[in-house]
Amino acid sequence: MTTVAIAGFQHETNTFAPMPTGYEEFTQAGSWPGLTQGTDVLSVFNGLNIPVSGFIEAAGDWELVPLLWTAAEPGGYVTAAAFDKITGMICSALSRLSGIDAVYLDLHGAMVVEHFQDGEGEVLRRVREVVGPDVPIAVSLDLHGNLFPDFFELADVVTIYRTYPHIDMADTGRRCQALLQQRIEFGALAKSFRQLDFLIPLTAQATMREPAATLYSELSQIRPDHVLSADIAMGFPPADIEHCGASLVCYGTSQSDCDLYADQLLRELQQKEAEFAEPMMPAPQAVAEAMELNRMNRKPVVIADPQDNPGAGGSGDSTGLLRALIDADATDVWFGMIWDPSVAAKAHQAGVSAVIDIELGGRYSNGEVANEPLRCRARVAHLSDGHFVFSGPMYGGATAALGRMALIDIENTGIHVIVSTVRTQNADAEIFRHMGIKPEDKGILVVKSTAHFLADYTPLADTILFAEADGLNPCVVERIPYTRLRSGVRLGARGPEFVAP
Ligand SMILES: [Zn+2]
Repeated sequence: MTTVAIAGFQHETNTFAPMPTGYEEFTQAGSWPGLTQGTDVLSVFNGLNIPVSGFIEAAGDWELVPLLWTAAEPGGYVTAAAFDKITGMICSALSRLSGIDAVYLDLHGAMVVEHFQDGEGEVLRRVREVVGPDVPIAVSLDLHGNLFPDFFELADVVTIYRTYPHIDMADTGRRCQALLQQRIEFGALAKSFRQLDFLIPLTAQATMREPAATLYSELSQIRPDHVLSADIAMGFPPADIEHCGASLVCYGTSQSDCDLYADQLLRELQQKEAEFAEPMMPAPQAVAEAMELNRMNRKPVVIADPQDNPGAGGSGDSTGLLRALIDADATDVWFGMIWDPSVAAKAHQAGVSAVIDIELGGRYSNGEVANEPLRCRARVAHLSDGHFVFSGPMYGGATAALGRMALIDIENTGIHVIVSTVRTQNADAEIFRHMGIKPEDKGILVVKSTAHFLADYTPLADTILFAEADGLNPCVVERIPYTRLRSGVRLGARGPEFVAP
């Protein structure tokens, strides 16, 4: 009988976001379950599209010992207190176990802690201290991991999502289980690690679009005989750390085959450099195009606001794109959503049909980006407690816990805004539907998302536009003010090379 301890601790840290990520953020449910401990992990995560769910499902007759699973919405630095507490919970539970054969960790890969640039590397160091050098540690990661060489050394095997939108999270957990099984059978595997010398903008990483679509389809095809697994992490650019950026990992039973294949994959990535082009256009231009298209089409135009994507550390309360829509007199606009717990509370207090004077959003800035509340009068059109079941390809089956939500109609405009209490990305059209809105019938839909929305919104959209408005998730990598990035990395396809100060 193989006994495996399993735990999950996920955070994607945007070091330019001013909101620190504390322990409380890790306890809260949102689009995913909140902090879950012990055997509850087996029932809570049953059947979800989350790595630990896939790992559990694939484990068959292995005896699993679940320790805990937790994740917080992407945001600023993880506090040292939260990191110490959560890794402490994992390590003390591990230290009470005897005779485990392996550890599986469901991590992100882009966690930055106040005092550690490489959050995952530090998790592994602490876990390794408890289990010793001989117990294999298997890790699954998000496609947006910024992998440090030390992290790679500390993990026995790593698998990484191959889709963005991340529709293969559970599958990545399954692949991790299979690779761990091979590690247990064959003993220590040969492994190779390579880092790319340019940064790929988040908005250019989507695997439903080129060039990532071709790159990833090749990844799952032909490999040399002695290579068991290979994966690419595209990196998470809004992180001012030494090893920000794309990298790849390769595992097998022959070091030379792993090295050859890793070099081949790296070359394929390098050859596509010029194709990783930033798709954003200025917000007023995106609005004008959407209005023009809307006059001719019966299917909705979707405008994304990538730079205020809460799923990449944006506050979700930036009013830049909303102002561009108001300035252009756009109508039939369904804006999902603005994070503003106080306006949501006020709307709930006033009730449906009430007219309220509000200062909407605009509270968060890091000093670099503009963000002001929108002072307006609005009618409350619909209320919700934020509990509903997602149905899209990424979150489908999971229960949302987004707190009090309100749909408000901004007076003297044709603009309708969903206001939320829990900060989260709109990657699932149920966010509209549960508020009584049929997104398929609307003119212009706005989502604060970089790419995850593509999975659920592409089928219902006539056209998708990416608007450049102010937000805390800088997507134009040439303009990101790095200070810690390793020297010699090019900032985007045609961007300048970063030279360490
Ligand atoms: Zn991701």
